[in-house]
Amino acid sequence: MKTLANFIDGQRKPPASGIYLDDVEPATGNLLARIPDSTAVDVNEAVAAAARAFPEWSGLPIAARAECLQRLAGLIQANALELARLESTDTGKPLQLALDVDMARAQANLQFFAGAMTHWTSTCHDMGPVGFNYTRREALGVVALITPWNLPLYLLTWKLAPALVTGNTVVAKPSELTPLTADALCELAREAGIPPGVFNLVHGSGNSCGQALVDHPDIRAISFTGGTTTGRRIATSVAPRLIKTSLELGGKNPALVFDDADLESTLPGLVRAGFTNQGQVCLCSSRLLVHESIHDQLVSRLADLVAALRVGDPTAGDTDQGALISRAHQRKVLSFIEHARDQGGQILCGGQAVQPPGRCNQGYFVAPTVITGLPADCRLHREEIFGPVVTVQGFADEDEAIALANAVDYGLSATVWTGQLRRAHRVAARLQTGIVWINNWLVRDLRTPFGGMKDSGLGREGGEWSLAFFTETKNVFVDGN
Ligand code: NAD
Repeated sequence: MKTLANFIDGQRKPPASGIYLDDVEPATGNLLARIPDSTAVDVNEAVAAAARAFPEWSGLPIAARAECLQRLAGLIQANALELARLESTDTGKPLQLALDVDMARAQANLQFFAGAMTHWTSTCHDMGPVGFNYTRREALGVVALITPWNLPLYLLTWKLAPALVTGNTVVAKPSELTPLTADALCELAREAGIPPGVFNLVHGSGNSCGQALVDHPDIRAISFTGGTTTGRRIATSVAPRLIKTSLELGGKNPALVFDDADLESTLPGLVRAGFTNQGQVCLCSSRLLVHESIHDQLVSRLADLVAALRVGDPTAGDTDQGALISRAHQRKVLSFIEHARDQGGQILCGGQAVQPPGRCNQGYFVAPTVITGLPADCRLHREEIFGPVVTVQGFADEDEAIALANAVDYGLSATVWTGQLRRAHRVAARLQTGIVWINNWLVRDLRTPFGGMKDSGLGREGGEWSLAFFTETKNVFVDGN
């Protein structure tokens, strides 16, 4: 078992309190590591180191910072299998998924923002003989990056790359449930030549370490991905300081399936959208809205496909569904399923915990579950379950489909499955979500704006949105005479 340390000013530092938290492997329930339970003392030290490193780092040519990111991307690629093993062990997700999605994307994040920054243009507003204005984009200073457990390295690098390449220095806090790849990234950052103090990492709980980071007066911006309740709390904490916050929060994402959809491609798409990473992706389509004329046929075929997903050891090559993140989360997901039973819902497949044979028989597994026949106002239709549970509702026409889709507090993403181009555009325009995929799910172009409406967040990440977030805009006027 490993004992992790914080990474401050290029050095490993134990927590000032001397207290550690347990990091548990979800697939077995075994102890994996002990991580610092950091407090304001450690956070202060990390922020001070980042503040000292800021003048030199922000003063480097853009190309020099971009080269550091490219080297880090190369090191992630070179160590992808080892990192994927850490990610899979720490999260419970299938190893192949960690390799194909998480590590590939972590590498792509760094490469993309290194390139994006070197191609970013600033504007000039010409006033003729009066003069002209040009726009500068200046680094903010020390920024805080706070990330969740479902896509640990994927989301940390998604924030780290634009923060660093624009010239900021960083204090990052990964989820206390999944600290391992963030911790490994510190060594790779050192090897990539990122100077001491530019990237600092503090481990610990949200209430203690995370809140101390949010409350630190020298933090100039916070980029947060996590739950809506935490996002609200952070927004409330920082409001008096008027600093930038980017909040990427929860979702309750609908999939709208019309009667003209091509079911041969729609069905596998729905399975992927509902159950990737055991349904623990903020973008997962957990609410299926299906035209009543195809409801019974679709539901029965979907249940067959979902029942065939193999639940088990994340390291096994044929595993489709790994473990949920924790015992507490497994209980929460199962309690939603119990509630569905109480409400008269029909469980078409799944509906129970799974104990795979062998080394994973104490892990936190839940069978992928499809439920129909719930009352319209049921909690399962409105609240984020964040597990392998998909509910199905029928609709009679387009208006009803859109009304159901928009009838939740969240507004992150939606998918629309239809063979009609006009309908696809019409429906996309009326959906209250930040992202709409038509006839697919989770196809990502890193240049596009990413984020949610309503309770799913504030602000957008991706491409120029991330670069703008991590910079302050300054207009300079030059007199023409
Ligand atoms: P969470 O809100 O519990 O924790 C996220 C991070 O915030 C963790 O590092 C945690 O330690 C920290 N934190 C908790 N309280 C804090 C506080 N008071 N101050 C500062 N930091 C604090 O979320 P989670 O359970 O780790 O992740 C699951 C949630 O994340 C789901 O709701 C999911 O939808 C959401 N999510 C959203 C996106 C997106 O892009 N919109 C992506 C992934 C996950």
